[in-house]
Amino acid sequence: MGGRSTPVGSSYPKLAERPVGKQIQSIYTDRLRQFTDQGQYREQSLLAKLYHTTTNDDKYIKKSVYSPPNLTRPTFEEATSNKFKECHLGDQFGPSWSTHWFKIQLTIPKHMLHGEHLEFHWDANNEGLVWSEDGKPLQGLTGGGERPEWILPKSWRDGEEHTFYIEMACNKMFGNAPGGDSIQPPDPNLEYTLWQADIVDVNLAVRGLRVDFWEIGDAAREFPNDSWQRHQALQVCNEIMDVFLAGEGSQESILKGRKIAQQYVGKHVDSGRVYESKEEPIVYGIGHCHIDTCWLWPWAETKRKVVRSWSNQCDLMDRYPEHRFACSQAQQYKWLKTYYPYAFDRVKEKVKYGQFQPIGGSWVEHDTNMPSGESLVRQFLYGQRFFESHFGERCQTFWLPDTFGYSSQLPQVCRLAGMSRFFTQKLSWNNINNFPHTTFNWVALDGSQVICHMAPSETYTADANFGDVKRSVTQHKSLDQDNTSLLVFGKGDGGGGPTRDMLDKLRRLRGMSDTTSQGLLPRVHMGNSVDDFFARLEDKVAAGTDLVTWYGELYFELHRGTYTTQANNKKNNRKQEIMMHDIEYLATLATLSNNKYKYPKKEIDELWENILLCQFHDCLPGSSIEMCYDDSDELYAHNHKLGTKLKDHALAALGMSESKTKSCGETVAINTLPWNRTEIIKTPEDDYTIVYAEPGLNSTDVIELEASEKATVTEKSDGVFLLANSRFNVEVENGAITSLFDKKAQREVIAKGGKGNQLVIFDDKPLYWQAWDVEVYHLNSRKELHSGRSEIVEKGPYRVSVATKTKISDKSWMKTTISLDASTGESDSPSYVSCEAEVEWHETMKFLKVEFPVDCVNSEATYETQYGLVKRPTHYNTSWDMAKFEVCCHKFADLSEANYGVSILNDSKYGFATCGNFMRLSLLRAPKAPDAHADMGKHHIKWAIMPHTGALGTDTVHAAHNFNNPLSLITIADGEDPDDDIFSSIAVAGSASLVLDCIKRGEDDEDVSRGELEKRKGRSVILRIYESMGGKSRGTIKTTLDVKKVFKTNVLEDDLEELKYSSSGEVEIELRPFEVATFRLQL
Ligand SMILES: [Zn+2]
Repeated sequence: MGGRSTPVGSSYPKLAERPVGKQIQSIYTDRLRQFTDQGQYREQSLLAKLYHTTTNDDKYIKKSVYSPPNLTRPTFEEATSNKFKECHLGDQFGPSWSTHWFKIQLTIPKHMLHGEHLEFHWDANNEGLVWSEDGKPLQGLTGGGERPEWILPKSWRDGEEHTFYIEMACNKMFGNAPGGDSIQPPDPNLEYTLWQADIVDVNLAVRGLRVDFWEIGDAAREFPNDSWQRHQALQVCNEIMDVFLAGEGSQESILKGRKIAQQYVGKHVDSGRVYESKEEPIVYGIGHCHIDTCWLWPWAETKRKVVRSWSNQCDLMDRYPEHRFACSQAQQYKWLKTYYPYAFDRVKEKVKYGQFQPIGGSWVEHDTNMPSGESLVRQFLYGQRFFESHFGERCQTFWLPDTFGYSSQLPQVCRLAGMSRFFTQKLSWNNINNFPHTTFNWVALDGSQVICHMAPSETYTADANFGDVKRSVTQHKSLDQDNTSLLVFGKGDGGGGPTRDMLDKLRRLRGMSDTTSQGLLPRVHMGNSVDDFFARLEDKVAAGTDLVTWYGELYFELHRGTYTTQANNKKNNRKQEIMMHDIEYLATLATLSNNKYKYPKKEIDELWENILLCQFHDCLPGSSIEMCYDDSDELYAHNHKLGTKLKDHALAALGMSESKTKSCGETVAINTLPWNRTEIIKTPEDDYTIVYAEPGLNSTDVIELEASEKATVTEKSDGVFLLANSRFNVEVENGAITSLFDKKAQREVIAKGGKGNQLVIFDDKPLYWQAWDVEVYHLNSRKELHSGRSEIVEKGPYRVSVATKTKISDKSWMKTTISLDASTGESDSPSYVSCEAEVEWHETMKFLKVEFPVDCVNSEATYETQYGLVKRPTHYNTSWDMAKFEVCCHKFADLSEANYGVSILNDSKYGFATCGNFMRLSLLRAPKAPDAHADMGKHHIKWAIMPHTGALGTDTVHAAHNFNNPLSLITIADGEDPDDDIFSSIAVAGSASLVLDCIKRGEDDEDVSRGELEKRKGRSVILRIYESMGGKSRGTIKTTLDVKKVFKTNVLEDDLEELKYSSSGEVEIELRPFEVATFRLQL
């Protein structure tokens, strides 16, 4: 016989004492809710024991208020110098966006003087900021029970009255949306009731047991049913409840409950010591607070969200030493420094101790689809310089958790800005295909790579719940290579950041992993940085792990409407990027030519910072409320004015003027682009002339055209017009191009039976996110707009035009003018058919496009992106192909065969689609949320159809630049002899695919620097050159300047390599396909 037999005299009971049943698991699990829910059993539950005592008596908490007029947001000094009026609980405050300052005179009542833990709780369902009596911003408060508490200073337990202030903002974390749908336009008339202003004495054991119970309860619900850990969790929770009931909720029973909980979560969950176990963690918790720089609230409110949120984090760091908080967006740091220096110093202190971790390296968390290459560079240049100058270090990780897709050159620009790591998660929102990787190498067009990690918890605003930690493994898609991940937690979008509860929960989850879970729950860790996480991955790769690669853009399969929504904003972005090119170029030349002229660095910084701010990922994409576009319109208008002034100053220093009134000298055309071009321009006398322009100044003398060069227009038959030049015959009927015949190539460009320049309109109701999304089914509703009869408006010989009016609806109309310019055989610039549109747009949920059915076949179309080209399918073979039914382009899109093709140029648009041989430029949308008036009103849009012989080439790249930055007229000041040679002092020769895209002065040159970083002796000129076609290319930088040395640098202008500089002033350069190269000429 095996086993032990029951020995004689065993104490094991011989007779069954009573029946014992098997627990019904679902009932005993559902029961747990009774212990911590707010429902009908609250008064009998643990929550009823949360406070030893509370008071809201006016005797102890005197409240008075000052309400500033006209929705203003005064400073502490301004606000507190006013008279305050007594107020009470139950009073209402409004309207939406208004501010109210409360003076609180608080006396801790005698019976609470020896309380366990005293807090002040304030809730009016909106946001608030606690200020000390002497004007220090201390801590943010979020209503609706989110974060109502402020811990009272110990020194106030003296029976005396103490004063502090609360600055109330009449908006919730997500603005002022009416009802429950937060993306609906804000209700301007919301009122907020002050319903809580209490002193409370907290029972800390209850607070602790509540979180113990929450996490063990989650284990009982979420661990697999076939795991013993689930069953044990359920037993532990039920035992805690039974003990509490048996003790009638006594303090003793609560403490006993905590002891029982320790069986499951261990002994150390009340401190950061829980993380000191030697076990290897795999989930790295990192606190974060995503504050949209504008979205459902204006910038002015964001400034306050920053101080509220970050002060809270500093406070939590004092109490939770393991707390680590990663925080991006230099602009927000700058706001904090400017408006809340006390809070900024507090942040700086925490940065020093490694708890507060600046991250991202960019000015804001910007959109990456639409900003130009130079804008992307400046996001990093301005961001990294801010971080380096204020915190002594640059960021190593680019951080964009919430941006709507990631363009193909980002890895290269990141590497050039000192960052080798990238964090995001937004692709988890794809609504067609599931992105297949969590941790991988992301590769740019030029081959540069960064390590990319997309948090498997699929959020940047995790609540640090049991499920978030669990999903960090169950949803990890790169486990073959590495099992670690980041868990990015904290209230976000509207600010906030981690809460006390979240940090407490993570302590329990770690304790659980070390005590009970035996590998079932991934071990979570606090106390590391995002850079520690990536450094570990880099080590692993160095030791031989091959991360999977992803080449090219991280296309986001949602939010495709953001290439089009808020057209005016997008146009301002494009125009000001071009304005900056000219200002920096002319100002650089002016410093080289005129000793009295000072490079306007401060103003240039201001202009760039404004442009970069407006590229925030809810601003430029068009997904913010109307107030944000009032803000950005104002900034763009300010920039336009300041930019015009700077350009004029630079021109004046060069002996010229843009303004016609100032001078009566000779008028010349200025070409600020680095290549020759031929353009028809209108002279001040309202004549046309043709200008064969070189870089710099060019005569505007009227040149007579040869007969063969002239543009002509005739009415060929009734309502059918023929526009012709030496290259094309263009037939226009009712605004549509029915034939575009290339005489040189002997080829028809428009597909048989097709109508080029046809305006089409679509019904545009996405599944939910109106301003963000256009959904694939909108294509089903395509409707051609019927236009009126065309008429001749320009007769040549320099330019011919026909204009056509199109009725869109009873409220909306459009006038399109199709033009063809004279073209000469030897011209440097290719010919194209251009179209100028004036639109009066008052539609609801419609999408306006213009289409071009062309006679070209290719399974891929090509689109300009930052510093290069991106190819995308023209078919819907797979779901990945079809997902790209609407894509982003910059200045052109192209559909080419091997020997011929068509480019569509635009001056301010970013949305495009090529389906088969149909090319469609997206013009205007009409979403009604979150801005009820998005895009309503007048618009001016330009585009051009440019057929070309051969495949897509540099002609298109140059033409698109020219189209966006036409020759402009300037006047040589009377008696001045402008330094024409200065324009030819810097040039790039060689491959036509090398684009000299930016000329500026060195950031730290001693005559330029504003002192943020160490100055550099002497003067330098920075050149940014990129290879635009995707082929290794050679060229020569030629300069007549007195250059001492030449360096290749990164975009932060660190010298990387000295280049050979010949005595004749030449530097040989070679660029990889799509390489972005920066050169520094040391003078
Ligand atoms: Zn966001």
